Amino acid sequence: MPGSEFQLIQSFFADPEQVTRPDLVLGIGDDCAIVAPREQSNLAISIDTLISGVHFPHNTTPDAIAYKALAVNLSDLAAMGAEPAWFTLSLTLPEVMYNDRPREQWLKQFSQSLFSLASEHNLQLIGGDTTRGPLAITIQISGYVSKENAMKRSGAKPGDLIIVTGALGAAAIGLDIALEQNEEHYTCLSEQHKQEAFRALNYPQAKIKEGLRLQSIAHSALDLSDGLVSDLGHILTASDVGAKLFLEQIPLSDTLVCLNKKKAWETALTGGDDYELCFTLAEENWSSVKQEHPEFTVIGVITAQKGLRLLDADGEELKMHTRGYDHFG
Ligand code: ADP
Ligand code: MG
Repeated sequence: MPGSEFQLIQSFFADPEQVTRPDLVLGIGDDCAIVAPREQSNLAISIDTLISGVHFPHNTTPDAIAYKALAVNLSDLAAMGAEPAWFTLSLTLPEVMYNDRPREQWLKQFSQSLFSLASEHNLQLIGGDTTRGPLAITIQISGYVSKENAMKRSGAKPGDLIIVTGALGAAAIGLDIALEQNEEHYTCLSEQHKQEAFRALNYPQAKIKEGLRLQSIAHSALDLSDGLVSDLGHILTASDVGAKLFLEQIPLSDTLVCLNKKKAWETALTGGDDYELCFTLAEENWSSVKQEHPEFTVIGVITAQKGLRLLDADGEELKMHTRGYDHFG
């Protein structure tokens, strides 16, 4: 490794102030990290790559890039009901950082944001890789998950309620604002709502606590990254069931107010990047969960009949363009 890369890792990623976990044997600096996992749990492992211009607009700040790269990985752990433990970081940096920002300043903001979110979750950076090329960030995350109760996509049962942990659609509006596209979606918004949309896009909140609470009772779960219809489809396929969604019950973000009802539903159903959890639960368990989490909303029910039906208040079936984001579509 060239000296400059060694310096870079030392300066920005071997942070002595960061979380120090007792179940880490050897961290950054050797050929591998070594961990000593607790015996009573399984490990959940996930990886996600964010590429500039694909997963975030080129003009995104280093602070937001780091936050989002880690948050989407945390969100995968949340969706399994796992507890965060360690992560590794692969960073591909362009020769010249954009916006004429000196690379030092970029890296400082990036690493501070990364460590700040990591420490909120007692999550430790234990290694990585640093290369040159178009800006891309890959994070692999590991956490502890129950041996019996990991929330898989395959456990949904007919009669289960379908529940989301929060309002949908704000990140899609945030993306419109960031890309200055579909102006009619946001020109009527207050400054505060615009900020809210921006935060939803750049600073998604991984639902770790919620996942840990739900792991003993939810039959199935996932996090909403590509859009509700597309993601719920994964649960339906994996569980070999169908579903009815009640459109009037879908919690719409306040940032959708510029849209008519049908457009707002469409955005909430197909917009990506919300990172709420969507899970299914036997009806008898709903009242206790609802009491603890009034922000959760029932949006539908799992059916033995296959397929996904979108029903309005009159029970009329609605047809809409409902494809989530698909990189290969
Ligand atoms: P090797 O060539 O043996 O793979 P590297 O030169 O890639 O080693 O990395 C040296 C050490 O620095 C390793 O412990 C690696 O995990 C760590 N490291 C490299 N890049 C990063 C990074 N971006 N963040 C955290 N740790 C890193
Ligand atoms: Mg390496």
